[in-house]
Amino acid sequence: MITPIPSAVAQSIIAAGQRLDRFGWVPATAGNFSQRLTADRFAVTRSGYHKGFLSPDALMVVDSDGRPEDASLRPSAETGLHIGIYRRFPETGAILHGHSIANTVLSRLCGDELVLENYELLKAFPGLKTHEARVVLPIVDNDQDIERLQNTVDARWNGISTIPPGYLIRGHGVYVWGPDMATTLTRFEALEFMLACALEERKAQ
Ligand SMILES: [Zn+2]
Repeated sequence: MITPIPSAVAQSIIAAGQRLDRFGWVPATAGNFSQRLTADRFAVTRSGYHKGFLSPDALMVVDSDGRPEDASLRPSAETGLHIGIYRRFPETGAILHGHSIANTVLSRLCGDELVLENYELLKAFPGLKTHEARVVLPIVDNDQDIERLQNTVDARWNGISTIPPGYLIRGHGVYVWGPDMATTLTRFEALEFMLACALEERKAQ
């Protein structure tokens, strides 16, 4: 049986795609999104669609191993990274991935982490009540082998005391998650704004 994707879920994914596209964060077929449907079913974007022009047809359902319920449909190539987040942070309800200029360039310029400090928008992240905060964003090397890439991400998460607001893949993009799509979108925008500021600062130096 195929799990239905409620229209409210489809609409929130479609709206998120339009929002990210407006900022130029999902060029060409870049990016992929997902939303939790049940404990072990997730709606994900299908491979190859422009995220600014999604329709319900561009979405499909995968299980908790990332396997399609409908074997004739191909999920996003990076579905395994979504599953990795849902596994490690089970309270996650929605995940957004995009390729902005800022996240692409900064992840190429930095080592294995990027520190964001003293930005007002840090308050968009869980547990941060003031701008006087320091957030460390892990950066992992890009890899077309998604299972190996997820192993690298898992290794970086081992032993962390605070949940990072997201992570960067070098020269590729950013992953951000949250308990629901609205929160995830807010975090994504806050993070991209701070990354854009960090890039401008570097240019001004
Ligand atoms: Zn990507």
